[in-house]
Amino acid sequence: MSETTFMGVERSLINWKPTIDYSKCDYCMECVEFCPHKVFEVRENEEIRLIVKNPDNCVVFCRACSKTCGVDALSFPDKNMTTQRIKEIRKEMETHD
Ligand code: SF4
Ligand code: SF4
Repeated sequence: MSETTFMGVERSLINWKPTIDYSKCDYCMECVEFCPHKVFEVRENEEIRLIVKNPDNCVVFCRACSKTCGVDALSFPDKNMTTQRIKEIRKEMETHD
């Protein structure tokens, strides 16, 4: 199995990724340069020049790139709710064992 896991849960089942507020983003690309995990993709010659291409590459509970964003255009899911959901998934997995 090549799927990565976090706290024993498949990463693809965990909703943790940056969301770009395009009404604020000025395409400075600081976040892209900062993050080493290829979460973002820069698109040449497109109106929307930056997308979250690989959300599952984002490190669960990392929010570091948001600190590089001077216009506060990056947001993340609620950490407590995500933790709660991970626990629920683990419980579901135990029940199905
Ligand atoms: S939160 Fe961390 S891992 Fe996720 S995109 Fe930003 S810097 Fe990369
Ligand atoms: S750092 Fe903020 S403003 Fe700059 S490209 Fe990323 S999301 Fe957009």
